[in-house]
Amino acid sequence: MAYVSATDMVIDARNRKYAVGHFNLNNMEFIRAFLLAAQETQSPMILGVSGSTAKYMGGYRSIVGMVKPFIDHLAITVPVALHADHGNFAQVLDAIDAGFSSVMFDGSSLPFEENLHKSEQLVEICRKKGISLECEVNGIGGEEDGVVTVGGTADPEQCRRLGLIGINMLAAGIGNIHGKYPADWPGLHFDLLEEIARITDYTPLVLHGGSQIPANMLRRAIALGISKINVNTECQMAFAAAVREYIEQGKDRIGTGYSLQTLLSPGVEAIQRVAMDKMMLFGSVGKA
Ligand SMILES: [Zn+2]
Repeated sequence: MAYVSATDMVIDARNRKYAVGHFNLNNMEFIRAFLLAAQETQSPMILGVSGSTAKYMGGYRSIVGMVKPFIDHLAITVPVALHADHGNFAQVLDAIDAGFSSVMFDGSSLPFEENLHKSEQLVEICRKKGISLECEVNGIGGEEDGVVTVGGTADPEQCRRLGLIGINMLAAGIGNIHGKYPADWPGLHFDLLEEIARITDYTPLVLHGGSQIPANMLRRAIALGISKINVNTECQMAFAAAVREYIEQGKDRIGTGYSLQTLLSPGVEAIQRVAMDKMMLFGSVGKA
């Protein structure tokens, strides 16, 4: 069964020191590209869906209804988790109800005790249903669904408390940023990552904003306990560049080059390439 929770994937990744790629969907083309990339590289994979993507694609139910048959249609055999990315409490419940196999509750903007309490409630719900749960402490920098925050670092004590309530994955800010990284970005805080990994008792850790972080930093982060890396921006940029090139070359004006399946196919190939490169870098190739 290819459609699974992320629980076993991230435990295996933590144990064998690689990271599972979390790739954000933006439309149907992304589903196709990522599924093909995972199958071709024999990688376990997490498909991420932000709240805004859920709205755009017709709600969580529509996405479950599209991804599950798509897996069968392409005869995908590697494990794939469908993960609601950065949900508030109501969105997480909605995604669970819709049939997502994995969810992220982002209570990072709430007072910590409330974040912890709500996370505990979700641990119970998810455990009963066999769904994996990711929680977050503090804000991760950058822009997420129009909300811009400065690159933050997590409080280790909060990480310890949240990491030990039975969640499956912990997202903590270690200087990482959503979206494009500024030229003067100081890099990841490895001392902090090392400390968080130590005091959270082997909880698989998640790195958000994985686009554009240099390869050597990613390898070091994986060695220190990062077991899931989120990638979105880089795929969107690759898609846009490939489709722009197609149109700038006037190919849409030749024959039936205007056909959307043809016009968007360079974009699909571009995202598939980016995803496969990331899987190679994260070490997930052949781990399915
Ligand atoms: Zn994120």
